[in-house]
Amino acid sequence: MTEKILFRNVHLFEKTGTFDVMLDNGFIDSVRPYLMDLVLAPDPEVRVIDGKAGFLSPGFIDLHLHLEKSQTIGEQECPGLMDAILSFKDYIRNHLSPEDIERRVEKTMRDLICHGTTSIRTHVSVDEIVGTMAVKTLLGMKEKYKDRLDMQIIAMVSSLTLSDDTYAHLDALGDTDILGYGAAPALCDDPKMMIDRLFELAKKHGKIMDLHIDEHDDPNVDVIDYFADSIVQNDMIGQCTGGHLCALSAVNQEKANETISKILVSGMHVVTLPSCNLYLMGRKDKGIVRRGTTRIRELVEAGVNISLASDNIRDPFRPFGNGDMLEEMLLTAQVAQMGTYTDLRQIFRMGTYNPARAMGYASYGVEVGAPADLVLLEAASAEEAILSRATRRYVLKRGKIVCENTTSTHWML
Ligand SMILES: [Zn+2]
Repeated sequence: MTEKILFRNVHLFEKTGTFDVMLDNGFIDSVRPYLMDLVLAPDPEVRVIDGKAGFLSPGFIDLHLHLEKSQTIGEQECPGLMDAILSFKDYIRNHLSPEDIERRVEKTMRDLICHGTTSIRTHVSVDEIVGTMAVKTLLGMKEKYKDRLDMQIIAMVSSLTLSDDTYAHLDALGDTDILGYGAAPALCDDPKMMIDRLFELAKKHGKIMDLHIDEHDDPNVDVIDYFADSIVQNDMIGQCTGGHLCALSAVNQEKANETISKILVSGMHVVTLPSCNLYLMGRKDKGIVRRGTTRIRELVEAGVNISLASDNIRDPFRPFGNGDMLEEMLLTAQVAQMGTYTDLRQIFRMGTYNPARAMGYASYGVEVGAPADLVLLEAASAEEAILSRATRRYVLKRGKIVCENTTSTHWML
């Protein structure tokens, strides 16, 4: 039986005052204003946690990861996306085993959970080298960790062409618990054909699509446009996700407006991955180096459902990262030049409420009836939590504490 937990005296997102939040059987049972003088009768079935006027946030959601690539960083310099792709292929050729993937992924998942993330989506390679092995390994880990982390899996074409063998592997995975299909079509010789064939599979198996779209610096957003149009033509409005969209920053304003309109019509959920793209893009630039990020503020202002995510964690694509969404939020705020408190709350939504929509969650947040996926932060608000990268005192998955941080700062003044 899940124990009842009562958080006393906690701040909630965009609400004035502090609250008492009761959890029961994995869900949020009640949310009431905190009354300082209220003395509760002892109840052995309820664990009471003094929130100390901290911020009780919904669990963070990292919408775009590559778990099976994580923790593979070595000494090889990878000056750009293609070099990183080739470097990882070398790694996986020499370490082709489920045990190696499990060992590395477990480390990354522990980091994610301890930093307050309660749900993720990971893209997992399918190609001539790994076949379906990596996806099947991650499906096993999804089951093993189901009480600590929700995991959605995208089977992603990780080669530059969609061979018949890889297509057959993807088709075979259609009967498994993967969420959908992915690829990076702009890197391929025939992007449109690849997108068409993946939509065929998605429709056949009732899956979604989550593509890396136009992750480059050239002023060409053909893949974004084609993906948006294809979503509409395939009757999948509001179901699909596009990641990166770096090239949207390279086109002129008129073209950018046209493409953002297409994104809106398709209901495409967008993910920006600033920490990875800052490292990977513009690598040959001298002097002013292009940032490689998409038009974050413009997408927000247009009403696109945009999230931010980690992408790669300590691998050839990005040798940095701690699975820490507050770190990703702070970096995104600086890169997108979004620094007011209103901006910071918007950034906070990009790691919580917005990805919850993309994940398809019917209920999310600190509201009665929502799953108790929570993180108690040593801060009074979302904006303060981002600015200070606040200590995560407790992380809860469906009402159970999955991580507790007992260290605390005490000012000796
Ligand atoms: Zn990615």
